[in-house]
Amino acid sequence: MHIALDEWKKTPSQVRRYGNYINGAMATSIGGSSIERKSPATDEVVAVWQKGTREDVAQAVDVAVEAFNDGRWSNLTAAERAEVLLKVSGKILENLEALALIEVQETGKTLEQARGEIQFASDMWSYAAGSARALHGDSHTNVGSEKLALVLREPVGPVALITPWNYPLVVLCQKLPYALGAGCTVVVKPSEFTSGTTLELAKILEEAGLPKGVFNIVTGYGDPVGQALAEHTAIRLISFTGSTATGQKIVQASSSNMKKVVLELGGKNPTIVFEDANIEAAIDGAIRGFVWNSGAECCSGSRLYVQRSILESFTRQLVEKLQAVKVGDPLDPTTKMGSINNEPQFNKIRSYIQQGRETATLAFGGNVRSDLPGLFIEPTVFTNVSHDSVIAREEIFGPVAVVIPFDDMQEAIKLANDTQYGLASSVWTSNLNTSLTMSRSIRSGIVWVNTFLDIPTEIPLGGIQQSGFGRENGRFAIEEFTTTKTVVIQNPATTDRFV
Ligand code: NAD
Repeated sequence: MHIALDEWKKTPSQVRRYGNYINGAMATSIGGSSIERKSPATDEVVAVWQKGTREDVAQAVDVAVEAFNDGRWSNLTAAERAEVLLKVSGKILENLEALALIEVQETGKTLEQARGEIQFASDMWSYAAGSARALHGDSHTNVGSEKLALVLREPVGPVALITPWNYPLVVLCQKLPYALGAGCTVVVKPSEFTSGTTLELAKILEEAGLPKGVFNIVTGYGDPVGQALAEHTAIRLISFTGSTATGQKIVQASSSNMKKVVLELGGKNPTIVFEDANIEAAIDGAIRGFVWNSGAECCSGSRLYVQRSILESFTRQLVEKLQAVKVGDPLDPTTKMGSINNEPQFNKIRSYIQQGRETATLAFGGNVRSDLPGLFIEPTVFTNVSHDSVIAREEIFGPVAVVIPFDDMQEAIKLANDTQYGLASSVWTSNLNTSLTMSRSIRSGIVWVNTFLDIPTEIPLGGIQQSGFGRENGRFAIEEFTTTKTVVIQNPATTDRFV
């Protein structure tokens, strides 16, 4: 790894410069242009990467196709591939501090949180190494005594991974180790705001012994780079995490060759607090629900439903507790919320807050922290919110929650399910029956009961409805990157004769 952490600490404004990563080498974009990334927390330029073009994509895909077809990776045994993945897991940990600092620079999230994310990222490589070795097909021995049917699991081919800016390394590592574990070759397009850790990972993969050409990166904007990948007819699967609007474009583009699509999209997730809940835990969970990662969390619990009997005391305590959420310097260990990631997102959140001011009651926050150097906004809570209002229905992707009362469980279920999304939800109750009914009735990819954003690597993640389809992590993750082939073998002496 080539980041001298001590050097970086001495000169924090040192700019990191990257090429695209194609066939094992950093390369300048054919278009010759680059993108400067300023830290959203300090407004300093921290990195420069390539502004990729369709031609860069074509080159990277050609390399990934050749690497797939010659079997330099897909023909290795699972044990051999797992050895590389395990080395990557270890090397990510060795470089934890440097990678975490890059995430802080490019995202504005807190250092403490970024450290946790790098650990999580490392763990996914070790889990995927196990998944690769456990992956196998199936056999049917009950289709006739002279016949054997086999179901083979094969890598789907060269794949493209497109990632967002909120968890740059984590989201990549929810895809990449599983794709590689399955034997695929890869072209990645990271977010134009946060490409640093993806590019650093290329060096780690090289050191871990991944053959050249198996992993490639083209940085740049969604259109052309992501769009060209989604349209490319040699890419057999596209795994995308990002907004529902972009997900729709990916689906359309994928029709060029009917490539397989895995989509992890947005959410407007309910947090439901019953009167019998452990209130202290519920308040803490509710705050984490919309403050974590400055609200840029696809599972963010931004619709907060509170049973009417406790509405007033709950809201009062919520607001009191929010005073303790320190917003500011991401490197300060006492900071709970860093900056917003980028200016378009900052402006989008401000516009939703303005709509909230016009249609609901502002119970907490609502202001930009103009005393700080970057893009900082206070955690914000609205009450007296209509369920049909924009702030109650649209994904804000910022530290903004709406509090809405409900009377009983049936109403809570109805409100929670009244959404186009279906990613995550959390329920706070001490009643076992309520836990059971709620977790069976809410339509979302994951339901947490008395906990929030609790994501061990072993459990699958993903949405339903307009939150997407396909699963990451857990035992299904690697299967997404495979296809099955059925083989039927017959003793010719007993094959059915047609004429
Ligand atoms: P985005 O859709 O704007 O961008 C995501 C990625 O897609 C970026 O790399 C972008 O450059 C690229 N892109 C943009 N236009 C494209 C196009 N036409 N073709 C191909 N690629 C294109 O999303 P974002 O603002 O980076 O991320 C925020 C969104 O991501 C939120 O909606 C959030 O809920 C979602 N998200 C979902 C999950 C999940 O697991 N479900 C996780 C994290 C983020």
